[in-house]
Formats: sequence, structure tokens, C-alpha cells
Amino acid sequence: MYEHISNKKIKIYFFSKQYMIKKKINEINYKSFKEFKGKDFLIPNQIHSANVNFSDIPGRFDNCDGVFTSNPKVVCSIRVADCMPIFFAHQYLSFYGVVHAGWKGLTNGILKNTSVLLKKMKLKLSKFDIFIGPSIQKCCFEVSDDVVNRFPSKYVKKKSDGKFRVDLQKIAFEELNSFGFSNDKIKITDECSYCIKDMYFSYRRDGAETKRMIGFIGFEA
Ligand SMILES: [Zn+2]
Repeated sequence: MYEHISNKKIKIYFFSKQYMIKKKINEINYKSFKEFKGKDFLIPNQIHSANVNFSDIPGRFDNCDGVFTSNPKVVCSIRVADCMPIFFAHQYLSFYGVVHAGWKGLTNGILKNTSVLLKKMKLKLSKFDIFIGPSIQKCCFEVSDDVVNRFPSKYVKKKSDGKFRVDLQKIAFEELNSFGFSNDKIKITDECSYCIKDMYFSYRRDGAETKRMIGFIGFEA
């Protein structure tokens, strides 16, 4: 659980690999989490899109990689293994959500779409606390020549072997800031899902069969 959120009613949980294995957690049994007893869940199906949705009604969302709600009975969920889980919590309203941002979603504008959605709902972006959770970081996120041009060059480092490393968290941070979120309210963990094998699943490290970590944001039970 992450404590820096100033709205004390809103809780963020991001479950490590061991916890998920030990508790046999999967998408089917979200309701068994004691932390969110009696709540219902918003579950985006996650297709590496840039689509973000708002709903006060729980359930699954197709064609979507981010969900927001203002219903305190609803918990927003995300599944990741390397991609960034980006949690948003309004400082005093019942309003929160989470976005799945891998490099595709990020370069296709998922954070821009998030800011447009929130502004449309007359919310002040500077009133949100943001947490970017464990994900693949600049030490390990390597891209090949064919996609390196999708990233602004200031976030790319060329290594001696000719490969490129990209700082996705920094891109996310600077984008969020440029859209109107407040830089002193954005926290980023330095934990890399690829480096920390004991704690996190990593798609890049473990391959397509790897499981996902689950993240939740909601009002506590
Ligand atoms: Zn790393």
C-alpha cells in the first residue's frame, strides 16, 4: 500500500509476485480481497490502446486501458508486468482511477486522453495525486531501431552495443506535468519490474506466459 496519497480515504494497493502466488489471486476472485470487502470492480480489458473511460457502474470495459470512477463503492483495477500502472487520486473528492501505460499507449496519447477526460468532467488536474508504480525502467527498457523514433530523443540513450534504452517514467512525468498535473504531486517508484525478479513479474524478462501484478485504487472497506 502506498501512503503518500493525501486523500486518506483512497487506498492504492499493488500486489507483489509472492503475495499473488501465496493468496492465489487472479481476476476471477477480486472480490476475495479483504482490503476491499464488499466493493465492486471496474476492470479494463487492456489492449495497449490510448482509450480511457469513466464509469460509476462496475464491470468490464472493452477496448480500454484506463478506468476512472466517482463511486466510492467501486474499485478501479489494472494488471501489469512491465507496463506502468499510473494511479490518480483527487485530493478531496471521491474521484480516482488507474491507467495502464506501456510504450504503445504512452506514445499513442493515453495520458493526453486522460487529461482531456478529467478536464471535461470539470476537474482541476492540479488537485490530483499521482503514483507511477513498479514497471520496467531506463536500466532495462530496450527498443530496436524500428521504434526508437517514436520516442523524443531526449529520453533515449544509445548504448555501446548500438541498442537504445528509453526512460518511460520520465516521459510520463513530463507529459503529465505539461498537461496540467502538478509535478510535486507525482510520485514515481524507482523499482524496476525487470531488475527485481523476486518481487515482480516481467513480460520482457519472463516471456509471454508470465503472470501480471494487480493494482487497485479505491475507497477502503
Ligand atoms: Zn531494470
